[in-house]
Amino acid sequence: MKKQTPFLVSLLFVLLACQTVVPAVAPSVEQTEPPEVGTIPTEEPAQFPADPHAGAPGMGDSYYPNFGNGGYDALHYVLDITIKDVASSELEAVTTIEATATQDLMRFNLDFAGFNITSITVNDEAAQFERNAQELTIIPAQMLAEGEEFTVAVTYHGIPSPMISVALPFPTGWVAYENGIFVLSEPDGSASFYPVNDHPLDKATYTIIVTVPKPWEAAANGVLQSETDNGDSTTYTFTVRDPMASYLTTINVNDFEVETMVSPAGIPIRNYYATSLPDDINKPFARQGEMIDYFSELFGPYPFEVYGSLVMDTEFGAALENQTLSIFGIDMVSPNDLEESEAVVAHELAHQWFGDSISVADWSDIWLNEGFASYSEALWLEYDYGEEGVNEWVDYYYEDVKNYPEFYPPPGDPAPNDLFNGGVYIRGGLTLHALRLEVGDDAFFEIIRTYYDRYKYSNASTEDFIAVAEEVSGEDLEGFFDAWLYDEQLPELP
Ligand SMILES: [Zn+2]
Repeated sequence: MKKQTPFLVSLLFVLLACQTVVPAVAPSVEQTEPPEVGTIPTEEPAQFPADPHAGAPGMGDSYYPNFGNGGYDALHYVLDITIKDVASSELEAVTTIEATATQDLMRFNLDFAGFNITSITVNDEAAQFERNAQELTIIPAQMLAEGEEFTVAVTYHGIPSPMISVALPFPTGWVAYENGIFVLSEPDGSASFYPVNDHPLDKATYTIIVTVPKPWEAAANGVLQSETDNGDSTTYTFTVRDPMASYLTTINVNDFEVETMVSPAGIPIRNYYATSLPDDINKPFARQGEMIDYFSELFGPYPFEVYGSLVMDTEFGAALENQTLSIFGIDMVSPNDLEESEAVVAHELAHQWFGDSISVADWSDIWLNEGFASYSEALWLEYDYGEEGVNEWVDYYYEDVKNYPEFYPPPGDPAPNDLFNGGVYIRGGLTLHALRLEVGDDAFFEIIRTYYDRYKYSNASTEDFIAVAEEVSGEDLEGFFDAWLYDEQLPELP
């Protein structure tokens, strides 16, 4: 994710475009204020008696212990969502989940907020259920045995509401606005539109079926398999064949201009631009193919079947690396400011490796996403301008972190209520550059490639990354990482 916070974007703007510094003020009300209608505050975790046959109501994340659930492993989701009315987002849906029980289960939980649930079945038999804030507890007619594969289907209807996450003061999840709908769910917004095991530790594949009234169009993650004309509506079916963390699920509705291209090495790209946007809105995205191939050389092969970007015709103060389809608010890119815009485009693309293919094992590891994506902005400058490009980024931000430490806390343990602070981005990125200086270019890129290869399509922790760095470099890096990730004091660059 990239938030449009003053210290990140305005300073990058200064660095790249020699513009005036925007004073560091709190983000404007429009960017942070939740929509007025029907937002769902994150509530206290549900409490359950310790029942040996009950799946845990949380995954045990060190920051957000009630995110996700225990007792099963979700394998595949089929989201079948019929939007009856785009303006209100009134919808009817069936979410079907194939999963494996990892223990005997008399009851288990999904994360789900709002809606009226019409029925729930487990293995085609009606199941009972209870709801408590975002916890949906399902009681199947028959106990599920450890190791058993089962299917749960939840039928529901209603109007989704964006949620305010405990992790950042920002509406997340399903957001309807005057020209359409977008979905931006990091870290816990997915439960605003489908029942889910909502933690990156339980990745799954997806089929996303969206029906929208004409003349609206829909765009979601993965490969568009079919588009069916139903007369007064259109059904789009997308498949996501690589495992995906739930927060990266996205469904977007608007009238879109679709642009397709192929990277020089052959990765297909499809970009969606809201048709009300100016024709040259595609300019910041023109070099994505070159970027994909360059990052593939540096990190390892591009992880997924397809890539692309989607730009909505509204400001939402953020861009998010939804798997295979990054989404941008119109305030995040400008055809008149290509270098700054390409930095954001490179950032979201780099997340496809770091964040999407390798996901965090625990939300406290968020610098593994944002530090890597931020440093990739510097790597893109290096592609264009060589050593001078990356050094300019490093010198600028090193000074900034030194001068404004309050904006850049140590990246290793960000405050749980301010997960996406400047430190995880910029000091996280500087940590990688410091590692590069410490071990040398050859070892550094070997570390990055080894780390990526070992944890792709899976999850990794900070300890996993440090272990790879030590293994590849042959150096004891404990003191180095302690200083860069956890010390209040910003270390000297090696
Ligand atoms: Zn990011």
